[in-house]
Amino acid sequence: MRCQDCDRTAVFSGPAYCKEHFNSYFESKVDDTLARFGMAGEGDRILVAVSGGKDSLVLLRVLSRKFPNVEALSVDEGIAGYREVTHEVLRSFCQEWGITLRIVGFKEEFGKTLDVILSEKQVKPCTVCGIFRRTLLNRHSQGYDVIATGHNMDDTAQAIMMNLLKNSPSLLARQGPVSGIRSVAGLTKRIKPLYYCSEKEVMAYSILNGIVTKFIECPNVSEAYRLKVRDQLNRIEASRPGTKRRIVDWFIGISGRLKESEGKDAGRIGSCSVCGEPSANAVCSSCKMQEFISSP
Ligand code: SF4
Repeated sequence: MRCQDCDRTAVFSGPAYCKEHFNSYFESKVDDTLARFGMAGEGDRILVAVSGGKDSLVLLRVLSRKFPNVEALSVDEGIAGYREVTHEVLRSFCQEWGITLRIVGFKEEFGKTLDVILSEKQVKPCTVCGIFRRTLLNRHSQGYDVIATGHNMDDTAQAIMMNLLKNSPSLLARQGPVSGIRSVAGLTKRIKPLYYCSEKEVMAYSILNGIVTKFIECPNVSEAYRLKVRDQLNRIEASRPGTKRRIVDWFIGISGRLKESEGKDAGRIGSCSVCGEPSANAVCSSCKMQEFISSP
């Protein structure tokens, strides 16, 4: 198979591209997404939330080629046998490309690793993890213009379907390429530059450009509802190609109206009476969770 833009052999199919043209196709897609949604501009300080997986490394690489002020932040939840491996990959990647990396941990910030919390309390791992991770990303991104995450189109289609299946319009409204319903002082703007890049495209970019990562899944992932939705969507996509893109396009079509209606219903964002960080409630979910994990 030939590249659709030159005579070289295609290394990617759908659309057929050689390495050089695939790279320009992929990077242009990210550039278009950045521009279309006004995600970041020249001179912005960009913090990339990284895990060490292919999505975050590809995002870090693409953004650091385009913007001079890109740094990386990773969260160590304290999941034995998992995070050590991904952080080893991350450290060597950032060292190779001269990118500043900071790692912040649950143990240092909340007093306990996720493993210890799960051994002491009956609680869903992803619930604790999600609340604490969001808190740390926002806390440690103060002073940056944006925080970028590596969510790709597959992740987004899954999140949209999950929120539809849970009948959760307020969470659905937050699934845009620029997260959140409205801007709030103290909450760093969160962007998803890989919004229109499929997982297959991200994987291809990572392989073709020697972005090496070790495939290792969090041991708690089997409990994630997302996994079930992911498998179902993959089945539908295999029989009806383009399904994921249509889900994302449908969402973008209604997201303006959805944000407007959910924004009206959303309460005023004030400050948590315990930690002082932005919160819609008197005490934020992170402080409530900290109280719960410290209780006897
Ligand atoms: Fe955290 Fe759950 Fe993801 Fe594991 S699968 S890293 S516990 S959110």
